[in-house]
Amino acid sequence: MPSIEPIIEPDIELSVIVPVYNEQDNLDYLFQRLLAVLAQLATTYEVICINDGSKDDTLKRLLDYHYQYPAIKIVNLSRNFGKEIALSAGLDYTNGAAVVIIDADLQDPPELIHELLPKWREGYDVVYATRRSRAGESWLKRSTAFGFYQVLNLISEVMIPHNTGDFRLLDRRVVEALRQIPERNRFMKGLFSWVGYKQTAVVFDRPPRHRGSSSWNYWKLWNFALEGFTSFSFMPLKIWSYLGLAIAIPAFFYASYLILRTMILGIDVPGYASLMVAILFFGGIQLVSLGVIGEYLGRIYQEVKGRPLYFVRDVYGFGEKEVKEVKEVRGGKGGKGR
Ligand code: UDP
Ligand code: MG
Repeated sequence: MPSIEPIIEPDIELSVIVPVYNEQDNLDYLFQRLLAVLAQLATTYEVICINDGSKDDTLKRLLDYHYQYPAIKIVNLSRNFGKEIALSAGLDYTNGAAVVIIDADLQDPPELIHELLPKWREGYDVVYATRRSRAGESWLKRSTAFGFYQVLNLISEVMIPHNTGDFRLLDRRVVEALRQIPERNRFMKGLFSWVGYKQTAVVFDRPPRHRGSSSWNYWKLWNFALEGFTSFSFMPLKIWSYLGLAIAIPAFFYASYLILRTMILGIDVPGYASLMVAILFFGGIQLVSLGVIGEYLGRIYQEVKGRPLYFVRDVYGFGEKEVKEVKEVRGGKGGKGR
């Protein structure tokens, strides 16, 4: 169970979580649009920015905003933990009855909150934003993303909607459900679906990044995909038993045939090519299957170590919680994890 108890501030209806990593040039425009949207909503809100170990001026600029608008709160992580973990940290610090997760680079238009909220008021627990288009993304990125979701849904136990990022609204009960998930390997897109509840979609056009460049490259995406497969499916592990069986049964008959033939017709030396092919083929299969087992084993190791998910260096705007946090850190107990 998470160790951070949410401070119940029932007067806050909407919490917005923004994970930020090196987004100094996007913050002005982000807050300009986001605060305009929130002001129109005529509701109580807070904006929780998770500074995920930014190396530029992001924190300084966030602080300027925090002092100007107290509704903007900051959780400053001790280093870069990656977006998935930044989001989990954000969920731990929210108070709102509804929580919206939004990117800092304006690829998730804040104006869409106007459509997310009514759906929630209608009674949906999760309202996710599905993109109609992927402007500014290459053909390769689009097709690999499509293939990824296709395969993932084929082999995984939960249905993960296509073309849907983390941009969504979550009801408090879903947030509490997510906070109970202790996994260190956090494939959030999968977890959002896995928890269930009443879910619905809202469609939007996803614009390209406002400023800066995405921190994702193909290597990271590949690892992200592996995370998805291994977190939500045992298929890659099981497949080897079936493949092994499919090869072993014919091999048994073939071996029987060879033994009989040798006994009847005598020893027959040629066969170097077929031997070599068989050795290389099976050697390859064995290495691949060991690799797959290794992927799972590594993740088991990570889970077993049970390290806290993240550490918080400091927080701004959380009142009581803030004071407690600093005390604990100063007391030498380390930061606040889960
Ligand atoms: N982000 C983060 N930690 C990271 C990488 C990204 O908090 O290690 C944030 C980033 O600041 C942005 C969001 O996650 O608000 C999405 O990041 P990005 O635009 O790089 O991803 P993409 O839109 O390409 O999926
Ligand atoms: Mg982006």
